[in-house]
Amino acid sequence: MLIDTHIHIALNGLFNRQSWEDANREEKVIWIRKILRKYKSQGIYILRDGGDGIFASKLAREIAKEENIIYKSPIYAIYKKGHYGTFLGKSIVDRGDFKREFKILLEHRLDHLKIILTGMVNFQKYGEVGETAFTLDELKYMVDTAKEHDIPVMVHANGRDGVGKAIAAGVDTIEHGYLISKAEVHKMAEKGIIWIPTLAPLGNILDSNDNRFQKEREVIQRVYEGQIKNIRNAIAIGGSVALGSDAGAYKVQHGSGLLDEIHHFEKIGFDRKEIEKMCFENGAKALNLDLHILKSWNKEE
Ligand SMILES: [Zn+2]
Repeated sequence: MLIDTHIHIALNGLFNRQSWEDANREEKVIWIRKILRKYKSQGIYILRDGGDGIFASKLAREIAKEENIIYKSPIYAIYKKGHYGTFLGKSIVDRGDFKREFKILLEHRLDHLKIILTGMVNFQKYGEVGETAFTLDELKYMVDTAKEHDIPVMVHANGRDGVGKAIAAGVDTIEHGYLISKAEVHKMAEKGIIWIPTLAPLGNILDSNDNRFQKEREVIQRVYEGQIKNIRNAIAIGGSVALGSDAGAYKVQHGSGLLDEIHHFEKIGFDRKEIEKMCFENGAKALNLDLHILKSWNKEE
């Protein structure tokens, strides 16, 4: 059973923020169903969304039920005002804001709390990921609040500083985690944090004759190679690595994105069986799924 642990259904070639807001429910449902069926056509029935600011993933969770897909949504992501994250969620400034947003998220029955801690990997400048948006105290406060409600925490983080803070705060999954060192890889494994290294966004650019990032190729290659080294290390020491495509990102399509991700893992040197095992077992953990329920659900399918 394949699980894509990191997608953004709101990012796609069918609609954008404006057309979504102009559309009625019926039109929205048609779009969402179309995307969900792309996953089904690839044999992917279990998905976790990273959030959006237009409630697309919330509607997707509803439609997913009718499509016999397990779909987990954070509704929208939380990011710090003035930092990276605009399209993925709502910004906050302080604890008061967080409390208010978290209450709203609870009303929408979030499946996990998504926090955007750093920026994206800068393709122009090696090593650059933007500053860590929340202090360790702020992050801890959000993580602890979520835990009080048994809500797992999914954190977008790149770079040693951000990933280090995410680990220290006790998050459940770390997304991307580019540009980290052996130390963070070991700490993630030690603490049982699931790492979702999302190779596809960078790997797919490198695999294509891409014009958009022609000048940035060298940096992308270097960052990608570092990630591969860390993944090998993580798996060698018994760390939990799950597969997430970051579908919706540039060059990563819904549905086939996870197959790209698997392909990138194959290129590292893992065999298909081993990858699918990681994909399922660590993916199920990332989604907080009960393996017994999952097995019976599979039979009903
Ligand atoms: Zn993402």
